[in-house]
Amino acid sequence: MLPPNAGVSAALFIAGALCFAGGFITWQTRINTPGASSLITLAFSLCWWDITYGLFLANAPALYPNFWLHTVYVGVVLTPPSVLWFAVQISGLTTWSKPSLVISLYAVSVLVLALLATDSYHGLFFGGIEIKNAEMILSGGPIFWANLAYSYALMLISLFVLTRRFRKATGIFRKQLGIVLFGVIIPWVSNLMFVAGLSPLPNVDNTPLSFTVTGIIFAYALLQYRLLDIIPIARDVLIENMSDGVIVLDSENRLVDFNPAALQSLELERPPQIGQPAGEIFAKWTDLVEDFSGVNDIRVELSFDKPIRAFLDLKISPLYDDRANFLGRLIVWRDITPLKNTQTELQEQVIRDPLTGLYNRRYLNEILTRELARATRENYPISLALIDIDDFKHVNDAYGHPAGDSVLQRFAKQLLNQTRVEDTVYRYGGEEFLVLLPNCAGANAMKIVEKWRSSFQRTNISYKIGITGITISCGIAEFPTDGGTGEELIATADQFLYHAKATGKNRVVARANR
Ligand code: GH3
Ligand code: MG
Ligand code: MG
Repeated sequence: MLPPNAGVSAALFIAGALCFAGGFITWQTRINTPGASSLITLAFSLCWWDITYGLFLANAPALYPNFWLHTVYVGVVLTPPSVLWFAVQISGLTTWSKPSLVISLYAVSVLVLALLATDSYHGLFFGGIEIKNAEMILSGGPIFWANLAYSYALMLISLFVLTRRFRKATGIFRKQLGIVLFGVIIPWVSNLMFVAGLSPLPNVDNTPLSFTVTGIIFAYALLQYRLLDIIPIARDVLIENMSDGVIVLDSENRLVDFNPAALQSLELERPPQIGQPAGEIFAKWTDLVEDFSGVNDIRVELSFDKPIRAFLDLKISPLYDDRANFLGRLIVWRDITPLKNTQTELQEQVIRDPLTGLYNRRYLNEILTRELARATRENYPISLALIDIDDFKHVNDAYGHPAGDSVLQRFAKQLLNQTRVEDTVYRYGGEEFLVLLPNCAGANAMKIVEKWRSSFQRTNISYKIGITGITISCGIAEFPTDGGTGEELIATADQFLYHAKATGKNRVVARANR
């Protein structure tokens, strides 16, 4: 013959299996998302409660007289703290959601279980009272009632926490919290029905089944609204701790919200007030207010020169409600000055020679094409002077490599001082230099380079002992006469330079005097 509550037992087993599946799936797929831990604990507690209570009702063989009572209670005492922990986590209550709270909640559960297990010694749990109806676990001694009150208190706090959060929430969070809230209300309603004698199963404790409905609703909220993926910890944890400045303005351009980083970077004399017009808050930046007051969606890089050169990466996004009504704007900015400075430094490093600070050959290739195109367009000549220090090997041999470096640096400096702004100077090789002289014909360039040659020869380079009488040789090619491309011009200049070397060095050679 079937035991009297076979149907209820079967329902409990199915509920237990559902809880187990829910807990297991959450564990496998979302273990690292905030809130998963409490939901998994809740699911397994409910599974335990459902299955053991089902076995109890089915008159399953017991190991000792109160075996099922004790076993069922494990689920009973673990469920309310799990509900509260979940409520706290999904409400984004970071101040509460700490390990200490969780440990204290479950420590009480462990204590209750210990008192239950030792009931035969002190009788504070069930001992004093005979359990008349073995199918119900609804009466007992002082600890029983204390635990019942504690469980109700936890459920009440969960309800309170969720309601408070629900009232403030908007959009998808509101829907999620609404569903979770509904899940928490179910056991209360079921309990009231039971007390009022309206329960469809007046002889069976319906709490585990109603909690199972709660668990299923939580799982639904999780899957339907990706609850654990986008828990509203965002506002409190992310925004507050972000190093980016964040400001929210309403549709009237009044301040709605801001984070500490925004305050810090705005360097205001006093903190802004919620509701203050943006124009007042940003009074120091009137241009910006004018430029962006009507802009809803933009990402720009801003640069400031005062008080120091600074760069900001600014993003403005519009905010809408469910019905696409414009609510205001979210303004996020990041100080990218260090990034920009590093970028500029790197760009400079790429195009400069570290020893002399002159442009390098790589940059010459980049510039040449551009300069020649421009000269063609504007119809003017360019002179290209290729300079090589004479007998430089000898300088190194006689005075040492560092002295040679000094000579190179000194010559570079001299070239920079003696050229016009439009001229560009390159270190072409070891002791070879190249100067581009736009809008300067070959004959003129010869005179100019001649001056460089004679003045450098007279220069006294003091490196430990003075070095003097260093000479240079130079080949000058003129665009477009000596070549139409950079390569042709360099080849010609090199040829003339070779000629200067071959004919005694310390000379400037161009087509005219070769
Ligand atoms: P020439 O008059 O024919 O040009 O003779 P040179 O000795 O100047 O020419 P050569 O090409 O034989 O030697 C160039 C020397 O320049 C050899 C190399 O060690 C030296 N050199 C190249 N780069 C550097 C540098 O960065 N620092 C120093 N100190 N010496 C360098
Ligand atoms: Mg050389
Ligand atoms: Mg040389």
